[in-house]
Amino acid sequence: MGARMYYDADADASALAGRTVAIIGYGSQGHAHALNLRDSGVDVVVGLKETSQSRALAAEAGLRVASVAEATKAADTIMILVPDTAQKGVYDADIAPHLRAGQLLMFAHGFNIHFGRIDPPAGIDVGMVAPKGPGHLLRSVYVEGGGVPALFAVQRDDSGTARTRTLAYARALGCTRAGVLETTFAEETETDLFGEQSVLCGGTASLVKMAFETLVEAGYQPELAYFETMHELKLIVDLMYRGGLNFMRFSVSDTAEYGDYVSGPRIIDEHVRHTMREVLHEIQDGSFARRWIAENESGGAEFARLRQADQDHQIERVGAELRAQMRWLNPVEVRAGQTQASASQPGGRA
Ligand code: NAD
Ligand code: MG
Repeated sequence: MGARMYYDADADASALAGRTVAIIGYGSQGHAHALNLRDSGVDVVVGLKETSQSRALAAEAGLRVASVAEATKAADTIMILVPDTAQKGVYDADIAPHLRAGQLLMFAHGFNIHFGRIDPPAGIDVGMVAPKGPGHLLRSVYVEGGGVPALFAVQRDDSGTARTRTLAYARALGCTRAGVLETTFAEETETDLFGEQSVLCGGTASLVKMAFETLVEAGYQPELAYFETMHELKLIVDLMYRGGLNFMRFSVSDTAEYGDYVSGPRIIDEHVRHTMREVLHEIQDGSFARRWIAENESGGAEFARLRQADQDHQIERVGAELRAQMRWLNPVEVRAGQTQASASQPGGRA
């Protein structure tokens, strides 16, 4: 085995005992961090804008709620869990003016530190715990007694206690039950962006859409194409999740396995490898980050147009109708113009 994994026994829970943790934001990650830490015995205060609709939800869950400024002042550790594009604004206005030496400023993704958007003053420790899973799972797996694996990193340790406190945070979140791996802000940020662009979101979405379009264009029924290219994907990925590619290939027919070997590398070919390297390079040299920040600062018109185009795709319309008949899937329909907050289950992104 290569990298060292850290488990419960490697993390000193007492590093957070008698200390207050401020959770800034109460969305996908925020609600899970606040509730898991609270249930692990940590004193939690949730920092939210006076106008935030999440205030009522956090209060209903029995959490203490304060303004971002008050939460920052009250805490020893501050975890920033507002969207990456909003973090600089919230930090500049309501966190930075209230920081004091010895506090630990934490992130769940390295974007703003790595790309220099947030530059905390000397004397402030900087750490990260980045769970490798969406917030609603971070919460539900913890409640069941398990944990979601995570990455952790320490960017600055002026107090000498940043690493111990960061590991204690990962433990309170439940992540050291599954194992956490040490990284740097640079490695986490670059690999996270690459993973979501090449496979998890971008690569998979484009692969599914292209296969669906190919079948429909050839005259096959769209409903059948949906089952074949989207619905079954989950069943296949579940096999990989439990036993890797080997277990997936063990479980499918020999015909499917042979087709996998001879056709897979023709679909995802050396041209795709070349493009993946280009995409990685644009992440590493900061050009993707600059483009995304500029898009947000100029009002997000391109983002809105891209989102709309895919929300109206035939696979989405066909899929919504089919899923509506499969209530056991707990189907969710995201409609055009719907915001993330209104698409979420209480405390979690749908
Ligand atoms: P989110 O989109 O769920 O939003 C979080 C909350 O921030 C909102 O519920 C709201 O309370 C607040 N908020 C929203 N807009 C705001 C604004 N303009 N100003 C102030 N507050 C605002 O965010 P998230 O997906 O939980 O992401 C939080 C952090 O966690 C990010 O750094 C993200 O990269 C990281 N992360 C997310 C996931 C995930 O699965 N969602 C996984 C790992 C890491
Ligand atoms: Mg990620």
